[in-house]
Amino acid sequence: MSAEFKKIAFIGLGLIASSMAHALRRTENPPRILGYARSEETRARVREIGFCDEVFDTAEDCVKDADLVVLCTPVGVVASVVKSISPFLKKGAVLSDVGSTKQSVIDGVVSFLPDHVDFVPAHPLAGTENSGPDAGFAELFENRWCILTPLPETSKEAVKAVQKMWESLGAKLSVMDAAHHDLVLAVTSHVPHLIAYTMVGVADNLSRVTESEVIEYSAAGFRDFTRIAASDPTMWRDVFLSNKEATIDILGRFTQELDELKNAIKNDDGEKLFDYFTHTRQIRREILEVGQDVDLPNFGRSNVEKK
Ligand code: NAP
Repeated sequence: MSAEFKKIAFIGLGLIASSMAHALRRTENPPRILGYARSEETRARVREIGFCDEVFDTAEDCVKDADLVVLCTPVGVVASVVKSISPFLKKGAVLSDVGSTKQSVIDGVVSFLPDHVDFVPAHPLAGTENSGPDAGFAELFENRWCILTPLPETSKEAVKAVQKMWESLGAKLSVMDAAHHDLVLAVTSHVPHLIAYTMVGVADNLSRVTESEVIEYSAAGFRDFTRIAASDPTMWRDVFLSNKEATIDILGRFTQELDELKNAIKNDDGEKLFDYFTHTRQIRREILEVGQDVDLPNFGRSNVEKK
């Protein structure tokens, strides 16, 4: 239940904040939801949609009465946002975030964090390629992991309260340190996004295949890359720049294995390819077994394709 926090303020009102707000409004004892976004356009749209009880024109006004403040902006601006709101955070308030990287967010926040405020960094492993306040939906976090990376000095009560709030949205909770989070996410999310961006770029630049052929004959593999590569450019630019070390580490391993597969193809080493693909297929089975995806052909898409 979210009743621990009676007033929750969101800074940044896009996909994640709007999904959290929709889900919070469905809880048994919903908190009062306050919101602020940078542009007048987004604030006006959020007023129309109505997932906030109150939308403020300044971040300072938005946070001053809040028990919990959740930073839902791209990670690259989190530190500057905290700098501007920190004098206005009330005593005993909890600050949290939803950023896709954790160490750089923590480094950016701690220097501006007032002593009377606990910071509980969080990252829900749920999202879509859509962004903005219209993209949110209440079910986004159901049965999805939310990872908390509290600091040694964060109070246990604050961690527990944030955990309860996420559980009330249907999420499963895990706690780990920020550096480990960043390495795990480099493998499971950040580098796969970079590969998708690259593959779509390669297809786009390949002059021997025309752009209309790429689009018209887009088969499942490429189509799935294009969905990922349609993700928000600001968010993903910030993710790579703020998780540099782990991304570069995993990219190095990726290029090494890619070279090995390239050599296997060059050398007609079918056994190597078969064994590799057999092993990766098993990983897909394990993901289905733990309920992190649905076992439907073509990822559950209808076979009736729109022309
Ligand atoms: P989004 O839909 O693009 O929304 C971002 C929001 O932040 C917008 O309302 C934007 O305002 C606001 N904003 C940007 N700069 C700001 C600033 N300087 N001050 C105040 N507000 C500002 O993004 P999102 O997908 O919800 O992502 C938000 C955070 O969640 C990111 O840190 C991301 O890493 C993390 N995350 C995303 C996903 C995902 O799949 N999308 C999943 C997990 C975590 P305007 O509309 O006025 O520009």
